[in-house]
Amino acid sequence: MRTTVGIVGGGPAGLLLARLLHQAGVDCVLLECRDRAYVEQRQRAGILEQGTIDALRACGAGERMDREGLPHDGVELRFDGRGTRIDFPGLTGRQVMVYAQTEVVKDLIALHLAEGPQLLFEAQVTAVEGADTDSPVIRFTHSGREQTLHCDYVVGCDGFHGVTRHAIPDGVRQTFERVYPYSWLGILADVPPSSDELIYAHHERGFALLSMRSPSVSRLYLQVPNGTDPASWSDEQIWGELDARFALADGSFKLARGPITSKSVTPMRSFVAEPMRYGRVLLAGDAAHIVPPTGAKGLNLAVADVVVLARAFAHLHTTGSAELLDAYSDTCLRRVWRAEHFSYFMTTTLHPDPEQSPFETRLQISQLDRIASSQHAAAEVAENYTGLPIG
Ligand SMILES: Cc1cc2nc3c(=O)[nH]c(=O)nc-3n(C[C@H](O)[C@H](O)[C@H](O)COP(=O)(O)OP(=O)(O)OC[C@H]3O[C@@H](n4cnc5c(N)ncnc54)[C@H](O)[C@@H]3O)c2cc1C
Repeated sequence: MRTTVGIVGGGPAGLLLARLLHQAGVDCVLLECRDRAYVEQRQRAGILEQGTIDALRACGAGERMDREGLPHDGVELRFDGRGTRIDFPGLTGRQVMVYAQTEVVKDLIALHLAEGPQLLFEAQVTAVEGADTDSPVIRFTHSGREQTLHCDYVVGCDGFHGVTRHAIPDGVRQTFERVYPYSWLGILADVPPSSDELIYAHHERGFALLSMRSPSVSRLYLQVPNGTDPASWSDEQIWGELDARFALADGSFKLARGPITSKSVTPMRSFVAEPMRYGRVLLAGDAAHIVPPTGAKGLNLAVADVVVLARAFAHLHTTGSAELLDAYSDTCLRRVWRAEHFSYFMTTTLHPDPEQSPFETRLQISQLDRIASSQHAAAEVAENYTGLPIG
């Protein structure tokens, strides 16, 4: 097999990149190790930035998102028994959309199967070789057979645990990492969300987030110790803890309860691998960087990477010039580090570290109070949350 761009991984990054390349007339093949049902059911992100919304619309994947997605004009920060609203359009002129990653993935897969390019499920990539040659090779197993895909370029969209990053030699690749001393216990519940907008709650018992997937499905998270078994939390315990962490001093907030349909625990990590290109191998999305989910940036960063990358491949295809491809790593890393900082800031401001002193708790409250009382501080949060321009 031979193609111009071999893409490893069919998450949001790989699927969108393949769609954009196909539209630009650049030949590509996408290899995904899981089956279609697994990829379409994997519960993850739910907040789309303006740039992500625009990119999905522009590539023809925005129709259902515009029909079923929930545009949001703000979020609430809740701390010290009170709440403050960040008004996105008022502060930035932008908004975000609540539309689950599972739905973005379903929409992109449906387009692929109808219009191409070639997408192979259950194609397990075992190695990427020849990054420093003109024809790198992807080795993979499909239908029980070992196969080889020869490419002009390989793009690793295979997430944090993928293989492509390891095609960049250890002496070249630099990694930067922070692991946080807490995780998120996330639930899906068949109950209408108790707030029209997301609530990020700081509480001495731990952080909590009220989010939603649709007008009838709530997505809620609790800060829990690392290594927590989701099965060790009963439904009753989860609702009780959510009540405690979202409580307002005047007692006016009531959290609606409903059947819990899913429980999972997500560890929190910040990670960046530099550079995002070595020879003919490029990385995009979680393969190159991870953020803790507090800033809602992971999916959006993956989309921004592949928008920049698709533009660079289209430029090469039409003009023969590799200048945009050469600039790819630097262009993306600038935005990646901004999002890394914002995600770190949101995470460390809203989560009490199990080891932290009362002094540090007071600093967190003071920071949140600053956002509540200063338009400049609130605008800084709103600008980062709704997303910086791509490219
Ligand atoms: C609980 C949770 C909540 C989150 N919330 C948000 C949020 O609110 N907002 C946000 O923006 N982000 C959020 N994120 C992050 C977001 O989900 C990820 O950043 C996003 O999925 C990255 O997309 P990706 O395509 O780069 O990687 P992935 O989605 O990880 O896709 C990688 C793909 O590669 C495939 N693959 C891996 N190895 C191989 C191989 N060897 N061969 C072939 N295929 C392979 C995998 O099966 C997978 O399909 C959240 C994540 C989690 C876990």
